[in-house]
Amino acid sequence: MNIFFDVDYTILGADGSMRPDTEETFQKLIADGHVVYVWSGVGIRRAEVRRLGLESYVSDIFQKPIEDYEQGLATWGVTTRPDFVIDDHPEIVRNFGGFVCSPYYWRNANDTEMQQIYRVIADVVATGGSEHDAYRSGT
Ligand SMILES: [Mg+2]
Repeated sequence: MNIFFDVDYTILGADGSMRPDTEETFQKLIADGHVVYVWSGVGIRRAEVRRLGLESYVSDIFQKPIEDYEQGLATWGVTTRPDFVIDDHPEIVRNFGGFVCSPYYWRNANDTEMQQIYRVIADVVATGGSEHDAYRSGT
């Protein structure tokens, strides 16, 4: 699947820290045959992706539409259609399908969201859906 991760409060905290297990999760998803993308509503976050050491895992970086999602893909030149999105904003997840993550603000070693995201993606691949509360099937 084409898997799109939001940046702020999804993989990146307000304190500049990276959500625990982000790199390991990207690695595992790619090993499973998925393609990982990063997008953000505030621009193309190439510098952050590089600073976090994620560049080698990420196939492309886009500006994320924040409304009119379908039209927004074309507007922002998002040439790949997301199959599964991970975002702290529920609305975009409802549109494309994916996982509504809890917002990650501050460094927290006990955050297990990435393991849950990985498990839900595995469920979707295996069964076409997931029973997890944070899963949205998309429209
Ligand atoms: Mg966000």
